[in-house]
Amino acid sequence: AYVVTEPCIKCKYTDCVEVCPVNCFYEGANFLVIHPDECIDCGACEPVCPTKAIFPESDLPSEYAEYKALNAKFATEW
Ligand code: SF4
Repeated sequence: AYVVTEPCIKCKYTDCVEVCPVNCFYEGANFLVIHPDECIDCGACEPVCPTKAIFPESDLPSEYAEYKALNAKFATEW
């Protein structure tokens, strides 16, 4: 699955939500998150993110490692 990270915080753009074919973006605390079981790894969201906040789980920068769990948590919380 793809993972949304820290640069998304307070971002006002929703280009990612618009291109996602399976609607797997959800509102987190103050950033958007991707539901790990719903993401089909199409990669459409990554290049349209204006803050470069979206990474494939396999290529998640180490400083954002915690975001994998945060995406899962917020995507399934409500
Ligand atoms: Fe949606 Fe594709 Fe991005 Fe996954 S990789 S969140 S399916 S746009």
